Amino acid sequence: MDAPAAATSGHALVVSGERQQHALDDALRLVEDPGERVDAGRVLEDPDMLPWKPATAAALHIGPSRSRWWLRVDLHNTDDLPRERVVVIHHPTLDDARFALLCEGGYSDAALSGDSLPFSARPLPDRQPAFAFVMPPHERCTLVMAITSADTVHFPLSLFDRTSYGVQQQRDYLLRGLGLGMQALVVVLGLLAALATRRLVPAHFSLVVISQALVVVVLSDLGYEFIWGELPRLQKILAPLAIGIAWWLTADFSLRLLPAGALPPSGRTALQASWLAALLLAMLQAMLPDTLHLSLLVVVVALGMLLLLAMTLGTVLVAGARAGVVAAAITAVAVATLVEAGGLLGLGMPQLPYLVALHAGLLCWALLVAGGLPRQYPERRKQPMADQEINRRVAERTRELASTVAQLRSTNRELDQLAVTDSLTGTFNRRFMDNTLARRAADDGQGPLSFILFDIDHFKQVNDRHGHQAGDRVLRAVADCVQQQLRDDQDILCRYGGEEFAVILPDTDLEGAMAVAEKIRTAVAGVEIPCAPGNTLRVTVSLGVSTLRGGADPAFLVGSADRALYDAKRTGRNRWHAAG
Ligand code: GH3
Ligand code: MG
Ligand code: MG
Repeated sequence: MDAPAAATSGHALVVSGERQQHALDDALRLVEDPGERVDAGRVLEDPDMLPWKPATAAALHIGPSRSRWWLRVDLHNTDDLPRERVVVIHHPTLDDARFALLCEGGYSDAALSGDSLPFSARPLPDRQPAFAFVMPPHERCTLVMAITSADTVHFPLSLFDRTSYGVQQQRDYLLRGLGLGMQALVVVLGLLAALATRRLVPAHFSLVVISQALVVVVLSDLGYEFIWGELPRLQKILAPLAIGIAWWLTADFSLRLLPAGALPPSGRTALQASWLAALLLAMLQAMLPDTLHLSLLVVVVALGMLLLLAMTLGTVLVAGARAGVVAAAITAVAVATLVEAGGLLGLGMPQLPYLVALHAGLLCWALLVAGGLPRQYPERRKQPMADQEINRRVAERTRELASTVAQLRSTNRELDQLAVTDSLTGTFNRRFMDNTLARRAADDGQGPLSFILFDIDHFKQVNDRHGHQAGDRVLRAVADCVQQQLRDDQDILCRYGGEEFAVILPDTDLEGAMAVAEKIRTAVAGVEIPCAPGNTLRVTVSLGVSTLRGGADPAFLVGSADRALYDAKRTGRNRWHAAG
C-alpha cells in the first residue's frame, strides 16, 4: 500500500505527547461522495482518489443529507514513542461511521461504529462514534472517515489522548445525568403534589416532563447505550415518537397554563394542527424509519414552537404579568428548540454541543412551570382552598348549632318559668301551688307545713272606682309587698285566683304562720299604691291560716284556710283567723 501524501498537503496535524486534545477543524478535509458511491474499500486504501477540500467549521454541520461524507485528517507523530489517540465525532445519532488509519510505514487500522450497529459491536463503548488508534513514532498517518446517516449529518470532531478522552466522557455523563436528575426530581415532586392535593394537574405535569426526558434519553443515545443497545432499530422507531409525543404534551400543557381569554382561537387551532401533524409524521416515521427523514419532523416541531412562541409573546402583550412565569417557560423551551433544530438542520445557528440547548430549554420549562404552577393553574389551588372552606363552614355551623342549643335551653327555661308563673303579678301560679302541696303531702316525715290564704278586701270597689288597670296595679303592689315579708328560699307565694293569694310556709307551725299573717296584714295596709296621677290608695287584706303535719291531705289544708279566711271577712276584714 502506498503511503498517503500527507506531507504534501500542508495540513498535517502534529501529534505529540504534550497535546491532550485537538480540535481537528483546521487539519480537516471533506468531500461529499460523488454521485454513485465510490467503492468505500478502495477509498480507505487510497484516500487520494477523492477530490478533498479544506473544511471550515460551518461545513462540519451538514444537516439533512443521505449522502456518504468523507473526512480526512493528516497526522504526524513527531515523538520517539508510539502515541495512542482517540478520535470522537460529537454527534451520537449518526447511523454509520467508518474509520481507517493508514500510516507511511504501512501500519493500518480500521473500525466501524454508528447506531445502526448493536452497542456491543462498537469499537469503543461510547454513545458517540469514536475510534482509538496508535500512531507509530515519527510516522505520518492519514485518518479517513466515511459517514452516512438517515438523520442529520454533523461531525464536530476531537482528537484526545486516552486520559482526556476519559475525562470528557465523564463530563458528558455528569452533565447529562445532572439534567436528567433534575427532570426526575421535578417528576417526583409533581407526583407527590398530585397525591397530596388529589388533583390530576401535577400528575399531568409530571407526565409532560417524563416525555421531555424521554426525548433526551433517546436523542442522546443514552437509551441505545443502556437499554435497547442490542436492538438498534428501536432507536429509529422511538426517536420520532418521543419527539412527537413530547411536542404534543408540552404545547398542550403550556396552552392550558396561558390565560384563556388572551389566546386567539385561530392560533390555538393552528397549534393543534401542528401537534397532530407531528404525531402523524412521528408514527409514519416510526413505521418507515429509512424512507422518511427525521428532519421533516424537526421542521414541523420547530414551526409549531415558533407559533407557540409568537402566541405566548402576544399573550404577554394582552395579559401582561398574568402570563409571566409560563410565558418565560414557553419562551425558554421554544428558543432552545429553535436553536437545536436550526443546528440539526444545518442552518448556521450558533453551534452548541449536541442537545445542550434543548436539554437546558426543557429543564427551564419544567422548573419555571413547577415554580409557577400553584399561581398559574387556579384548579391546583382549589383543593387546599376547598379544605379550608369546608373547615370554615363546619366551624360556622358548629357555632350556629351551639348558639341555637343555648337559645333553646334558655327558651325552655323561660317556658318552664312561664308554665309556673302568674303573668300579671310574677308570683307562682295556681298550678305550681297545687303541685307543690301534692309533693309535700307525698313526703312523709316532714316538719309542720302552714298555709295562708288571703283576699284583698273590697277589691271590686277598687276596680269600680279607679278602673281595672288600677286594680291590676294594686294586685302587683300587694304581691310585691307580700313577697318582701317572706323567706326567699323557702316560702312560696302563689296567686290562687282573682284577688286571692296563697302562701305556703314549709317547716312553719301555726304560731309562726299566724305571725307571718299578721306581718302581711300590717305591711299591705301600709303600702300606698299610685292609682291616678298624684293620687294613691291603700287596701287591706283578710287572711285565713291553717297548719298540718306531714302526710295529711292538702285539700284539707286549703279548705281549713278558706274557712278561716271566711271568718276573717265575716268578722270585719283587715284581720287574720286561724283554723281551729
Ligand atoms: P270582699 O271584700 O268580700 O272580698 O269583696 P271583693 O269586692 O274584694 O270581692 P268580690 O269577689 O266581690 O270581687 C272580686 C273582684 O276582683 C271581682 C273581679 O272583677 C276582680 N278581679 C279578679 N281578678 C282580677 C284581676 O286580675 N284584675 C282586676 N283588676 N280585677 C280582678
Ligand atoms: Mg274574692
Ligand atoms: Mg276580695
